[in-house]
Amino acid sequence: SGLALTATGASSAQSPYLDPHASVSTRVADLLKRMTIEEKVGQLAQPAVVNMQGGCQWSGGPLTESCMQHVLGDLKVGSVLSGGGETPVNNTPKDWAEMVNTVQKFAIDHSRLHIPIVYGVDAVHGHNNVLGATKFPQQIGVGATWDPQLSQAMGESTARAVKATGPQWDFAPVQDIARDTRWGRYYETYSEDPYLAGALGAANIQGLQKTGQVSATVKHFAGYSQPFAGHDRSEAHLDPRYFQDTFLPSYKAAVDAGADTVMVNSGSVNGIPAHASHYLLTDLLRRQWGFKGVVVSDWNDVDALRTSYHLTDTYAGAVAIAINAGVDMGMLPPGEVDGFVQGLLDDVKTGKVTERRLDQAVSRVLALKFKLGLFEHPYVDPSKADAAVLGTDKDLAVRAATESQTLLKNDGNVLPLSTGTGKVVVTGPSADSIPNQDGGWTIQWQGIPSGVNDPGVTVYQGIKNVIGDHAKLVAKADDAVDQTKDADAAIVVVGDKPGAEGVNDQEQPELAADQQDLVDRLQATGKPVIVVVVADRPLVLGKAADAKQLLMTWLPGSEGGTAVANVLFGKANPSGRLPVSWPKTTGDEPMFYQQLPGTNSGTSSGYDPLFAFGAGLSYTTYAVQGVTVSGGSTVKVSVKVANTGSRDGDFVVPVFAQQPVSRIIAPPNRLVAFTRVPLKAGESTTVSLSFPRSRLAVTQGDIDGSGTRAVLPGLYKIVAGDKSADLTIN
Ligand code: BGC
Repeated sequence: SGLALTATGASSAQSPYLDPHASVSTRVADLLKRMTIEEKVGQLAQPAVVNMQGGCQWSGGPLTESCMQHVLGDLKVGSVLSGGGETPVNNTPKDWAEMVNTVQKFAIDHSRLHIPIVYGVDAVHGHNNVLGATKFPQQIGVGATWDPQLSQAMGESTARAVKATGPQWDFAPVQDIARDTRWGRYYETYSEDPYLAGALGAANIQGLQKTGQVSATVKHFAGYSQPFAGHDRSEAHLDPRYFQDTFLPSYKAAVDAGADTVMVNSGSVNGIPAHASHYLLTDLLRRQWGFKGVVVSDWNDVDALRTSYHLTDTYAGAVAIAINAGVDMGMLPPGEVDGFVQGLLDDVKTGKVTERRLDQAVSRVLALKFKLGLFEHPYVDPSKADAAVLGTDKDLAVRAATESQTLLKNDGNVLPLSTGTGKVVVTGPSADSIPNQDGGWTIQWQGIPSGVNDPGVTVYQGIKNVIGDHAKLVAKADDAVDQTKDADAAIVVVGDKPGAEGVNDQEQPELAADQQDLVDRLQATGKPVIVVVVADRPLVLGKAADAKQLLMTWLPGSEGGTAVANVLFGKANPSGRLPVSWPKTTGDEPMFYQQLPGTNSGTSSGYDPLFAFGAGLSYTTYAVQGVTVSGGSTVKVSVKVANTGSRDGDFVVPVFAQQPVSRIIAPPNRLVAFTRVPLKAGESTTVSLSFPRSRLAVTQGDIDGSGTRAVLPGLYKIVAGDKSADLTIN
C-alpha cells in the first residue's frame, strides 16, 4: 500500500528504487525497467484537474472518486497542476494541503509501483493562488529593485509557502524580455534588458530550489514576449541575431542557475511553433546548454500543433512532433488527457515515438520526483499549513515593494511629504484597491474576482497608517478636486485593472482619459499633486505626463500600500530604477534602450522615451567619482560612488558597455553589470563588479543570420553614471 512508502522505505531491500540512499540514476534505472508502456506514457501527462469545465472535473468541492480513478488510476498520470485559473476560491492553506494529500494518496495507492505525482502551480508573486498568503510585487516590480539577493529571498519564501500547502513544482520565473507594452504579459517579465532579467531570474531560482523540495521553471522558452503587434501567442519574428543576443541570454542564465524544469513558448518564432522546434528544445537547450531536467509544454500546446498550427491532423501526430522535438511532458486541460495519453500510446506502438525517447522523457520525470524526495516524503502536514502561509513574510513583501518604488518626477522636491501634514486628499481608482495592486495571477488567473476579499494594505490604508485622519479618501473625481482646494496635497492613484495573457493585451496601453483628466484638474488647483501609478506596464500618460510628482509603484502586491506610504512620507528613500523604457506614445512600440543606431533620426538610435531605462530619483544625491577597468576573460570594474546628499539611501549603479566603433552595429549601450549599494549620507565607497568578457559577444555574419557569437576586438567604453573607463580587447 501507499503507506509503506511514507517514511519507512520498508521494501527497499527488494526494490532499489525505493532506497533513499541509492543515487538518483540508480533509482531511475531500476524503476524504469519495472514499468509497462502504459505506466511510462502516463508519467508524461500533466492534466489540470481543479475547477475546470469539461472532462473530468474536480470542481473545488470534494474530489470525486470516479474522476481520480480515471485520471490517476486508469490513465496513470504522473503529474497534475492547478493553473492560475483553476484554483478553488475560498480555500485555506489547510484545505490546499488536504486536497494535494488526497490526490497524492490516491495516486500512490493506485500506482502498481507506488509512484507519487508531482503537483504544479503558478506561484509567481508569492503563493498567489491562496487566500491570505502574502503577495509579493509582480516580476516587473522586482525588476525595478535591481536586487538579485531580494529576488532570491522571495524565491525562498514562495517555496516555503508552496511546499507547506502540498505542491512541489512552481511555474516561475518568467525569463521573457519586455519589449512591447501592448503585450498582456509584460508585467510577468523582469525587464527589457537581457542581463538584468537573467540575473534576477537566476537568483529567484536559487531561492525557490534552495531546500530541494520545490522545483522552479524557466518559462516560456523561447522568444515568447514580442509577438506580432503585442498579441499574445501570435507569431514572433525575431531575426537570428536579435533572438540570440537579446532573447536567449536570460533563459540561459536561468538554466545555468540550475532550474529543474523548462516550459515551452506557446507561440511560433520565425514561422516555427516552439513546441515543434528540435533546434530549440534539443539542439540548443540540451546539447549546447546541457540542460538535464524536464521540459513541459505550456497549456494545451501539444494539441495546438494540430488545432492551431495545422502541422498534422491527428492528436497522435501532434504528440509525436512535440515529443520528438524535445517536449517531455504535456500540460493538459482536463478534457485533453485522454487524447494525449492515447496519442502517445499509438505513437509508441507505431514507432513514431521510439521507446528510447519515451524512456528518456520518463527518466527525467522520475529523476525530478526522486530529487524532490517525493518517494520518501509524499505528504505534507495540513495542520501546519495555515501557520506557514497566512500573513507570513510580510516584512519581506514590504521591503520588496519599497525597493521597487520608482520615483520619476519630484519637481521642487515636494516629496517627501511631512508626516505632520494637514489634510491630504487620497483619490483615484487604485487608491483603495487590493485587486488592482496585486494584478493578474492572484487567487485567479485574471486577478482577484469581485466579491472575494484577500487581505492587504491599500495605498490609502498605508497613508492612513502614517498620517491618520489627515488622509481623506475621496472616491468621486469632482469631490476630490473640490476637497483638494483646502488640502495640503492630493495623492491621486491611477493605473489599470488586473488581467493576464491575451485578455490583457492592449492596443492602446494608455492611462484612461478620465484618469488623465482627474490628474489635470487636480493640478489646476495649484496644490501639490502626487501621481502614483499602480500599473502592470509603463502606460502612455498623455496629459498626466505633466505631473510634477510621479511615482511608479508597479503591481506592488498585498503590502504595497505600506511601501508607497513609506516613500511618500520619507520613511524610505526611493531606490527603484526603471527596468524598462517608458514610452511617450503607443506608436513607439516596440520600445527598448538597446535599439540599434540608424541614419535618419534625431538621436543616434531613435531611442526617445519619456523616461529612459534605469531612470529613478532619490531624496538624496549620488555621484560616480571614478571608474577603473581591467581586462581578461573576467572584466573587473571598480566604481567609486558617493552619497553627496543628506539622507541615507541605496544607490543602484548600472554599468554599461559601449563600442565607439564596431564592425557589427551594436546597441549604443548594453548593461553588463550592476550593483545596489547602501550609502549613508556623506559616505563614499568603491564597489567592485565583474563580468565575463563573453557578455560583450554579438552575433556576427550577414543579414541571413548565419554568423556565430563572438566578442569583437576593439575599444569598449565601460560606463557607470557619467564616468567611464576604456577596455581594449585584442
Ligand atoms: C501560461 C503559463 C502557465 C500555465 C499554467 C498558461 O496559460 O502561459 O505561464 O504556467 O498556463 O497555468
